[in-house]
Amino acid sequence: MTSYKYEVVGMHCASCASTITRKISKLSNVENVQTSYANKTLEFNSINPIPTETLNSAIKHLGYEVVDRTVKNNESLHDHAQMELSILKTNVIISLPLVLISIGMMIWENFLPYPAIAKTFFHHLLPVMATYMLFVVGLPYLQAVIRFIKYRAANMDTLVGIGTSVAYLYSFILSAFENVLMPYVNTEHIYYDVTIVVIGFITLGKYLEARSKQKTGQAIEKLLGLQAKTAIVLRGGKEVEIPIENVVVGDIMVVKPGGKIPLDGEIIKGETSVDESMLTGESLPVDKFKGSKVIGGTLNKQGSIQIRSTVVGEGTVLSRIVKMVQEAQSSHAPVERLTDQISAVFVPVVLILSVLTFIIWTVLGSPLMGLLGFIGILVIACPCALGLATPTAIIVGVGRAASLGILIKNAESLEKLRNTSYVVFDKTGTVTKGELSLTQSRVIDFDESRAFSILATLEKESEHPIARAIMEYVKSKNIHLQNITKFRALAGLGVQGNVAGKNYYAGNVRMIENLGLKVDQSIIQDLANTGATPIILASSKEIILYAGVSDTLKSDAPAVVKSLHKLGIKVALLTGDHQLTAAYIGKKLGIDHIFADVMPEDKATHIKNLQAEGYSVTMVGDGVNDAPALSTADVGVAMGTGTDIAIESAGLTLLGGNLERLIQSLKLAKATFSVVKQNLFWAFIYNIIGIPIAAGALYALYGIMLNPAIAGAAMAFSSVSVVSNSLRLKTIKL
Ligand code: ADP
Ligand code: MG
Repeated sequence: MTSYKYEVVGMHCASCASTITRKISKLSNVENVQTSYANKTLEFNSINPIPTETLNSAIKHLGYEVVDRTVKNNESLHDHAQMELSILKTNVIISLPLVLISIGMMIWENFLPYPAIAKTFFHHLLPVMATYMLFVVGLPYLQAVIRFIKYRAANMDTLVGIGTSVAYLYSFILSAFENVLMPYVNTEHIYYDVTIVVIGFITLGKYLEARSKQKTGQAIEKLLGLQAKTAIVLRGGKEVEIPIENVVVGDIMVVKPGGKIPLDGEIIKGETSVDESMLTGESLPVDKFKGSKVIGGTLNKQGSIQIRSTVVGEGTVLSRIVKMVQEAQSSHAPVERLTDQISAVFVPVVLILSVLTFIIWTVLGSPLMGLLGFIGILVIACPCALGLATPTAIIVGVGRAASLGILIKNAESLEKLRNTSYVVFDKTGTVTKGELSLTQSRVIDFDESRAFSILATLEKESEHPIARAIMEYVKSKNIHLQNITKFRALAGLGVQGNVAGKNYYAGNVRMIENLGLKVDQSIIQDLANTGATPIILASSKEIILYAGVSDTLKSDAPAVVKSLHKLGIKVALLTGDHQLTAAYIGKKLGIDHIFADVMPEDKATHIKNLQAEGYSVTMVGDGVNDAPALSTADVGVAMGTGTDIAIESAGLTLLGGNLERLIQSLKLAKATFSVVKQNLFWAFIYNIIGIPIAAGALYALYGIMLNPAIAGAAMAFSSVSVVSNSLRLKTIKL
């Protein structure tokens, strides 16, 4: 099964999305269809690619069309949105004066002296304006009515279309056969103005909605804008400027001071500092020198550097970030299922309701009242605001996060994050800087440099931060390394191997005790009580060396723990390190609980235990050896250094490893879903109040029948207010 994603044009409402989902699901070999109204995309799983023609044969007659084979980037979507927006704008500019004239006329007629000449004038002007509004500006709604008649497919455009064309038709018949009908109905009541005002307001609403929606997607545009268009590369010893697509892995790229780093790579010449704030949200420039990794899209500050390109195309950090943000923005939050179900049944229910209203009022009152109720319900009951409530908030929330250096994998992670009641931190690289150094050592009856030579020989093969600290130490001491055979790294314990014909072991207390050797606990305690991680080197028979490796706490860590407590969240440390070392760090942090001496495979078990106690657990780790724990937790948060961002097991990645971002993520998750709740509330309440009023509930009490023109304005307003409310997330204080 492969997942396919397409761009769809012609969607006007959430109910269109459910129609498309239904139609595409009926095709053979297609599974798991998801259509997003907010993103205008269609996604499904399929074994074989499905030709666009096949997809279109299922939906084109309903007014929708799949355009691109796949959506690679947002550009084509963007162009289309831009075009739609400019058409809407023209329509608004033309229809606003017509709407104002109609409203002005209504006021004049009802509240001011209304001379016969004015009456005759408007009597002739209104039909002309209404004709223009219905057949030009309102064409999409008319087409929807025709589709409804032909294919029985209804969406919100159908509702508006039926309402406005019925008002038009009624008025047309009345004015055309005025003399014939005069004895039977009051031919004074014509409703051309309803057609004009409803179409006018709905077009205005759509325009405002489209304009704000464009703003919701700006985060992606900003990221895409970071991508350099060209790169200067060395070809035959000369500097040539070529399009970015032509750069291949291994090319040497030259970047001048103030220039943009075109693609990911490694510095091979020169040194500089790089502004990575656009990706990590970190304001301080990062020093880079020969061997440093740099990321495409970041800014070279003062030095001139040469970079060997290490990855191009879709594999670059920037491309991966863009992809991740796009996917998260179009993902569905669990709360959305409810609104999808509601909007799917909404249109048919409203159609039935409006017909019932018409019949009841025609019987109880007059056909005119029946007509007003009928049109009013059709116009007011659009589920648009409902369909926009969740996706727009997610799009803005995820985008805001990206601008802070927080990558969110999907809406579900964000929704779960807000419920966090327990945060579990990994130690090394998460609450500590992960820059370990060997600070203490004690040799037991052995030549010191020989002991370190053996230790370093064992550690040179290991990737562990402890190994790196030891290598750093021996480098400064000029200690020579030896050959090693039978090297093995034992996760959570240490390393072992054969050096000069003898087996050696370097690792923690547990590893050495497993050999049956007796560890001097007082030395271990001395080391661990200062916060150092005790490392022991031993042969199969005796202990050779005790060493302590220290790390420094991230300066913001204690404040972050405090903020978590303030949010009512419990905090624990989870580490494979010695109990005393962990206790030392834990005390500095002020945390609630410590899980120390934990084997890597047991880390996930501790998470499960907390979940069994009823906690919603967020695990924060550096993403490499914490993968099982990260994916077990309700939300996994990975510390990304920028170069290893696509951390599969985590729902969230904090670029640059800044812990403060965790608090911001939590606040943003809470804010996003409170915006969702507000949106849903307003969308619902509006329909709950609007539909009965349109149906004539107030007539029974006060003798007022809702003018359908007001229904049109209210409907337009509700969608606009939902989108604007979501846009607040862009600037909300975190
Ligand atoms: P954590 O990431 O939580 O610190 P690990 O599972 O990576 O835990 O390691 C647990 C412990 O195992 C370390 O604290 C250390 O004592 C020991 N250890 C792991 N790898 C090595 C190594 N290469 N050299 C020495 N000790 C090691
Ligand atoms: Mg670790």
